[in-house]
Amino acid sequence: MSKSIIIIGAGIAGPVLAMLLKHKGFDAVVYERQPELRQAGIALNVSPQTFKVLNILGLAEKLIALGSQLEEGLTYSQLLGEIIGRNEGPARLRESLGWPLLVVSRSKYCEFLHSSARERGVEMHFSKRCVDVKQEGERVKATFEDGSEAEGDLLVGADGLHSTVRNVLFGKEPATYMGLVQVGGIGPIPEFFQPWKPTLYQSFGDGAHWLSTPINNTEMAWTATMPQPAEEREDWRRMSIEETKAMVKAVPVADWDYGVKDAVASATFVTKFGLYERPIADVWHKGRVVLAGDAAHPTSPHLGQGANQAMEDCYHLVRVLLKATPFTDASLEAAFTEYESIRHPVVIKSVGTAKKQGEARVLIGKEVCEKRDKAMKEAGGFDPERIKLQLELVQGPFQGTSEI
Ligand SMILES: Cc1cc2nc3c(=O)[nH]c(=O)nc-3n(C[C@H](O)[C@H](O)[C@H](O)COP(=O)(O)OP(=O)(O)OC[C@H]3O[C@@H](n4cnc5c(N)ncnc54)[C@H](O)[C@@H]3O)c2cc1C
Repeated sequence: MSKSIIIIGAGIAGPVLAMLLKHKGFDAVVYERQPELRQAGIALNVSPQTFKVLNILGLAEKLIALGSQLEEGLTYSQLLGEIIGRNEGPARLRESLGWPLLVVSRSKYCEFLHSSARERGVEMHFSKRCVDVKQEGERVKATFEDGSEAEGDLLVGADGLHSTVRNVLFGKEPATYMGLVQVGGIGPIPEFFQPWKPTLYQSFGDGAHWLSTPINNTEMAWTATMPQPAEEREDWRRMSIEETKAMVKAVPVADWDYGVKDAVASATFVTKFGLYERPIADVWHKGRVVLAGDAAHPTSPHLGQGANQAMEDCYHLVRVLLKATPFTDASLEAAFTEYESIRHPVVIKSVGTAKKQGEARVLIGKEVCEKRDKAMKEAGGFDPERIKLQLELVQGPFQGTSEI
């Protein structure tokens, strides 16, 4: 079977989808706007859904070796000056599901996916910014900024948050600034954390929230979320050394206790980005063009599910495309409708809970924050709604044996 499938975007979803398609006998070609893989972003949470999908390609264990497997969760209140929750949830999850909760540098993860795709003979083209998509009969044509074109039987827009493919299909939807920014950094693990097992550590304070984890044996990644009335770019660009030095002094958590100030001070680079909300459409396809990953369901990062939900999309898309061969307009319509009907309810829950998490994490005022922290302490330091949903999400995208 050789059906040519164009994939726009070589972030997380693009290369994985291409590898899965190739694995099942399809011919997939990836087009990425960047001239090369750029060092950007901080870290990604990788949960069992991703490992189940990568295991189909024999890549799960290799990814695990690149990151840090979490063992514990710990929550600290800056206002109460005490640990308000601690558990071994991540270790228990690994025992029950057989796959860990992993945190890995996003750049390392991308490098790994790109080199794995290349080893498997996936064709990837860089400096190819898609500017238009048109369907002509049973063929789809992508046009790139440099004037070149690519043609295939269908096209997948895996081009992220600012998806051009989504805009071409459905028009540009305005994004709403959520009034929050995140500053994230990576640096050597400070002495304070050296005795710790790999821990998902969060710290609550007045007007900001802190989250950190090791990303390997020597480095730690963190993000501080805080309100900012003025809009901030929605970008993951790493700042220069000078910008980083200035930022680590200015960030409102720079003097926080219990390891936070040490981690901020040891950052070797930081990034700062605004958080925006976009409506999630009910339909993610038109004709022979379909969306996957952030292009279909952009999310705020508070649940750590963006990359994992993208992986579930890849699995289900390949599964429905296998059923849809030989491709006809009708078989693809049925396939994409099934894909959306399975994925839509899951991402609606995931994106909605991520948004609520962000709002609850960043409260302003001593009294209201102390009240929140006391309530969290009673609940064990972690939001029960979040834990319940995470336990549900990690069951995806299939239980038992893969259908592809
Ligand atoms: C540079 C970068 C850094 C990030 N860092 C983090 C992080 O530290 N933590 C976190 O939680 N999430 C981060 N994210 C978001 C995270 O990767 C996604 O939420 C998630 O992995 C879903 O993956 P995706 O493949 O759908 O989208 P993405 O990973 O965003 O990939 C989309 C890809 O499409 C490409 N693209 C966009 N438009 C076009 C076009 N017109 N033509 C061709 N190619 C195009 C982009 O360059 C990108 O490579 C980052 C995203 C990016 C792009």
